[in-house]
Amino acid sequence: MVSVDVISEEDDMMTVLFKDSDRALLNAVRRNLMGHIPKMAIDTVRFQMGTYDQCTKCEHLNPAGVARRTAGGTGCMKCEAAFEKEGDDYVVWETNYAIPDEMIAQRVAMIPIPTDPEAYYFEGDCPDCKDLVEEDRGCPTCNMIYTLRAFGAKGGKTITARDLTFLGDDSGNVPEAYRDIPITVLHEGQMIEFWATARMGYGVNHAKWSPTAGVTFEPRQTASIANDKKAKTLFDMGLRVSKKDFKDGRLDDVSKVSALKKDLHNVGAGTGMSEDFDDAITLENVEGEFLLSFETDGSMTPKAALNASFSKLEQRFASIKEDIEHVIG
Ligand SMILES: [Zn+2]
Ligand SMILES: [Zn+2]
Repeated sequence: MVSVDVISEEDDMMTVLFKDSDRALLNAVRRNLMGHIPKMAIDTVRFQMGTYDQCTKCEHLNPAGVARRTAGGTGCMKCEAAFEKEGDDYVVWETNYAIPDEMIAQRVAMIPIPTDPEAYYFEGDCPDCKDLVEEDRGCPTCNMIYTLRAFGAKGGKTITARDLTFLGDDSGNVPEAYRDIPITVLHEGQMIEFWATARMGYGVNHAKWSPTAGVTFEPRQTASIANDKKAKTLFDMGLRVSKKDFKDGRLDDVSKVSALKKDLHNVGAGTGMSEDFDDAITLENVEGEFLLSFETDGSMTPKAALNASFSKLEQRFASIKEDIEHVIG
């Protein structure tokens, strides 16, 4: 029976040890983590285009031209201040900037959207709108809507994920650690305005729907000292692992072994020490044991991603079993 132990866990990184397992299973988990975890990501961005005269008195945005005295306008549509001189009475803002809208949409898509798979459905499974034609789908149980309206400044102002506003409670806001992701830089007179829709999807269809990165696995290894005298070459360097960490010439602890592997780079080929050291410490794979490690992008915790991967695998294996039974039966 496969067992899984958590070796280390941080907000966005995790290492787990699989026992009684094999490479096929680990690879299935790895591929699932990358491509088959339900995740929210911004999928469509609707850009607002236009030019505005912003009232310097009340900051109201008036449609370009219509409020200006020179165009026969009667002043600010909110506070009625006269618009006579640009710069004094009003400032002109235009939705015009250096980066094309497509690139901005791509950047916004890659910003991690906090994903609660219990709270949202895929559009195709949504109880409220799955029966509608595809273009008409999208409701509060399957879409998350974000808006952004930002203005530039002299010398350039960086617009970041912090400027995205989620239309809903705090749970939908981009996590604090990721709010400095840049979207674009705006200069004086430049503004950007859009609303964006996040939908559930899978990493196999686009990287924005993959919550994980750097998913790797390797056999668990143990170390043993083959030659006490030569092993001293390494221990004398005073690095991460010392002789004391070994019990009867053996080292089993997972994190100590991984530290030792880093230490061994100091006595390996090309270091000038490899002859003195002469493979005095050897590493050995442990049968059926593997270390899986990965990072998440901030849209969910590593544990949530791993659990989602397990339940997805369970579903897929169950359906294969059903198919086989159907064929044989
Ligand atoms: Zn005004
Ligand atoms: Zn819906």
